[in-house]
Amino acid sequence: MEFLYPDWKKKALTFSYDDGQIYDRRLVEIFNKYGLKGTFHLNSGTVGKPEFVEPGELCSLYEGQEIACHGVEHRHVLQLCSSQQLREVWEDRAALEKMTGRMIRGMSYAFGEYSEDFIRTAEAAGIRYSRTVRSTHSFALPADFMQWHPTMHHNEGILEKLEKFRSIPGYEKMPLFYVWGHSFEFERENTWELIETFAREASGDPDTWYASNGEICEYVTALRNVEMSAGLDRMYNPSALPIYYTASGKNYVCRPGEERRTEE
Ligand SMILES: [Zn+2]
Repeated sequence: MEFLYPDWKKKALTFSYDDGQIYDRRLVEIFNKYGLKGTFHLNSGTVGKPEFVEPGELCSLYEGQEIACHGVEHRHVLQLCSSQQLREVWEDRAALEKMTGRMIRGMSYAFGEYSEDFIRTAEAAGIRYSRTVRSTHSFALPADFMQWHPTMHHNEGILEKLEKFRSIPGYEKMPLFYVWGHSFEFERENTWELIETFAREASGDPDTWYASNGEICEYVTALRNVEMSAGLDRMYNPSALPIYYTASGKNYVCRPGEERRTEE
């Protein structure tokens, strides 16, 4: 048997955009227009400052998109003591949650900086995944969601990569295309056409799950936590999400809390 994404979709696409500058407004508009989903990593300490999004608009602007942490003040965490590191995450979560009424569980590392200690601190502060800036140029799922390396930055050839994603061979299971960047780069480099073209061409594929970083992390974590009998003919889903899979050419779903025969 093989696991699949929700509704038996074979692939997933997600975006991750940092810093929360006002150009997020145009980027979100593009994502919404084409039915795409992503995660917007904000620094609570800069929300409301000139060139940055306003606290009062977060809920409406990012409706249907995920909001996540990026550190209160976008500090270099490797230059901070552990109390300061904790504050960068804990207070960021608390502030963003207060502004939005949402529960915030994602993060991206400011400047891509992190350490083993900082990962432990972030986890203790309730962070479930955090994105780095190291491109893998692959569609592989991360081994460790606290060191989630993206496929590529949007300036590294996303249109060419999309062609590969579309014609990916069937033996590559559960591919994930993960694009990251900053919306201000489209404005500064006059490349809005790039992301608009990508969004248009990537949209509307019935085999692709368009999901936020958090949704992907939650689903893949649930899938990895499935328990199976030694004979692999029974499975138990201890998570709160339905798990989709295929076996002998048929589609099945294992409901939350359900124990079932794999092929029945
Ligand atoms: Zn940043």
